Amino acid sequence: MGKQKRANSALRRFIMTIVFLTVTMIVAAGCGKETSGDSGKLRVTATTGMIADVAQNIGGEYAEVSGLMGPGIDPHLYKASQGDVKKLDDADVIFYNGLHLEGKMGEMFESLEKRKPTVAISSYLKEEQLHSDPQAGSGMHDPHIWFNVKLWISAAEVIRDTFVEKDPEHADYYKEQATAYIAKLEELDAYAKEQIASIPEERRILVTAHDAFGYFGSAYGLTVTGLQGMNTMSEYGSKDVSTLRDFLVENKIKAVFIESSVPKKSIESVIEGARQLGHEVTIGGELFSDAMGDAGTEEGTYIGMVRHNVDTIVAALK
Ligand SMILES: [Zn+2]
Repeated sequence: MGKQKRANSALRRFIMTIVFLTVTMIVAAGCGKETSGDSGKLRVTATTGMIADVAQNIGGEYAEVSGLMGPGIDPHLYKASQGDVKKLDDADVIFYNGLHLEGKMGEMFESLEKRKPTVAISSYLKEEQLHSDPQAGSGMHDPHIWFNVKLWISAAEVIRDTFVEKDPEHADYYKEQATAYIAKLEELDAYAKEQIASIPEERRILVTAHDAFGYFGSAYGLTVTGLQGMNTMSEYGSKDVSTLRDFLVENKIKAVFIESSVPKKSIESVIEGARQLGHEVTIGGELFSDAMGDAGTEEGTYIGMVRHNVDTIVAALK
């Protein structure tokens, strides 16, 4: 008798468990809009800090954005860690730069693309808006698109449209956020134009460790040259050092710039070479090229990083 009772209550518990699990699943499915994070926010993973910052500005309170590449990180050489793979797997939406900026992650994006929205920001730009990168081969383009602020407005639009499509319930919010942020980008673009124009024309030459500033130069009127090509994976040799050294001497260039994501020693060898020829060159400051500054600082945002670069360049060359 006692045995029978125990068996009955075990059966009842079993049935209750099944009912409970079924109800839980139905409730979960009902709540499962496009957003699936614990917080109910759209989970967004972006590669570079610059993209993550724009996504956070537009996504605001409805997006939880994580960027994979922190301060000082070189995206050309970056390999995804175990933790990154999880962040990409868990994301509702993924944004990356493309044009082979994230050179070692290409295959990963191809496979993610089959499972979830995986958006290359650069793929929304028109061919004529892009610079070619002859060193990388025919048909290849310079990936450093964020340094033409006008082009980066397109990035903001792509991110806005992706959010609107993925989370239509908050469409109006995303549109408002984007409009406000794009207005700030317009202001930034005007600031860069006006500031760079204040440098005497013959001194508007920007020399850096790698060729990250091609779009910046053409948008704001600077001649740009770097020791390494557009990709930090490319090796530079003694011939590149002597070519750049001669360029500095011939053009009487007073200042060159280091980059937060590229080792200093490459550009120091050029400075030393010029010094041996009797031409003094100083380091005009550190520019943020392929990565932003520390989180919580002015330079830890896209707008702050561009302003910092403009101000540093103007102070050194003017
Ligand atoms: Zn670069």
